[in-house]
Amino acid sequence: MIANTDITAEIGKLRKEKNAIILAHYYQTDNIQDIADFVGDSLALSQKAASNNADIILFAGVKFMAETAKILVPEKKVLLPDMNAGCSLADSCKADDFKKFIYENPGRTIVTYVNTSAEIKALSDIICTSSNAIQIIESLPVNEKIIFAPDRNLGNYVLNKTGRDIVIWNGSCHVHEEFSLEGIIKLKEMYPKAKVIVHPECEMPVRLIADFIGSTSSLLSFTEKDNSNVYIVATEPGIIHQMKNANPKKMYLPVPPKDSTCGCSECNFMKLITIEKIYRCLKSETPEIKLDNDIIIKAGKPIRRMMEISEKLGL
Ligand code: SF4
Repeated sequence: MIANTDITAEIGKLRKEKNAIILAHYYQTDNIQDIADFVGDSLALSQKAASNNADIILFAGVKFMAETAKILVPEKKVLLPDMNAGCSLADSCKADDFKKFIYENPGRTIVTYVNTSAEIKALSDIICTSSNAIQIIESLPVNEKIIFAPDRNLGNYVLNKTGRDIVIWNGSCHVHEEFSLEGIIKLKEMYPKAKVIVHPECEMPVRLIADFIGSTSSLLSFTEKDNSNVYIVATEPGIIHQMKNANPKKMYLPVPPKDSTCGCSECNFMKLITIEKIYRCLKSETPEIKLDNDIIIKAGKPIRRMMEISEKLGL
């Protein structure tokens, strides 16, 4: 067992020797965010994965994110320190069930959220993230009929914002559906001037009392530009590390879960990644993401379509 400071130094050495880059999601623990080469949300991480000079990408995040990186740069080695780092939202949409859903709703453009398996992406016309979902839907012709999957809350949010003809897959994230409305109201009573900032994967009652709704990166930039001093944060609390880095004098209050005994406002999948696992993974260059070439080709098209639209819109 080596001490944490030594592990950090060893990771730094290995990263240099192997020309590796560590990409970390905002929901990773503070110490992982601090050693990463780049920290971001799903859209920014995809953009970074597609444009760097490293030979190895180590993904400190969950499996669908590492798969997205592999699809975008199949010639590179993409490592995920723990293959059990899945996603309840991605798991709520299995390929066979989704094929049936598409069959039952013919003639619709299939827009899927990036939080899906590579197989689901391969069945899609265009991918989106919470940073660009509205713009992606609005980039389609007004009369186009759409399937949106897999998150029902983000789907409803996008439907209300755009007024488009959208049928929505009934999936959800166990973390974002767990935030307690009562918990927010209690925090608001304690801090009446606090602003409630909410991720669109949260349920409608939580979204309805929000002062601001946005993707993880939008929530971060909102707290950077806004002039309030206290925020009630309804998304995975990992993001609060970057909020504090940007504005240490402000106060950020994580929303408690409905079940106060479960600690489930944190993403247990994201938290499977640890500094020790990153070290072992970089040293052994395993576990590595492997995907069939056919899936890489089919899933690559809708991801690239999203990235082109995002680039045109400056997102
Ligand atoms: S927070 Fe939810 S959507 Fe994000 S990785 Fe965890 S389970 Fe999936």
